[in-house]
Amino acid sequence: MRKGMLFVLTGPSGAGKGTVLTRVITTLSGLAYSVSVTTRKPRTGELDGIHYYFKTEKEFDEMQERGEFLESVCKFKHKYGTPKSKVKEQLEKGIDVILEIETKGATKIREEFPEAIFIFITPSSYNELARRLRNRGTEEEEMVKMRLKIARTEYRSIGQYDYIAINDDLDSCVDTVIAIIKAERARKINYEDLVKKLASLYRTHKNEE
Ligand code: 5GP
Repeated sequence: MRKGMLFVLTGPSGAGKGTVLTRVITTLSGLAYSVSVTTRKPRTGELDGIHYYFKTEKEFDEMQERGEFLESVCKFKHKYGTPKSKVKEQLEKGIDVILEIETKGATKIREEFPEAIFIFITPSSYNELARRLRNRGTEEEEMVKMRLKIARTEYRSIGQYDYIAINDDLDSCVDTVIAIIKAERARKINYEDLVKKLASLYRTHKNEE
């Protein structure tokens, strides 16, 4: 049986990864979103078990000690982690899984899943990223500067991702990500049995011609 494919959406803070992800998973079928665990407090409208599993520091550390994360990071003073068992279980069942994580986590995922598909989301310019972070209006200038500093280090490794999805226009970025997932799903490696069967049709039906 075909194993599930792992897709990783990554990119700097302010690139719009979360919004793109929401649109992609509501459009494509057979794609499971891995809900991360975090120690940050829920924002308005965020639900436990849907947007994140919200945990205390102690709960998070205990999960980490038990080796329950595929990867975890501490970012902007909060901890984030990808639960291991659910992702592995779904991939074994042949279900495709998508993660939406920051770049350090993506690097760790690559060590364990070199065959995963990495999609880097970014606006087409650094100035646009800066404009968006400032326009959010939810943060102090000091925090915006910190996010931009981190973004500059994240751009240094942009060459290592499989795909770049430019997010200047949301619809167009969502279309790009959907096209990438569809194309990756259509790779012949995912249809080994069918490919063998169809390729041998000529031999088995030769006498009917
Ligand atoms: P936010 O607090 O805005 O929801 O997320 C902050 C950052 O953490 C975003 O860049 C998001 O992609 C990233 N993030 C969310 N969950 C995880 C996770 O499980 N692992 C890693 N490495 N990053 C995550």
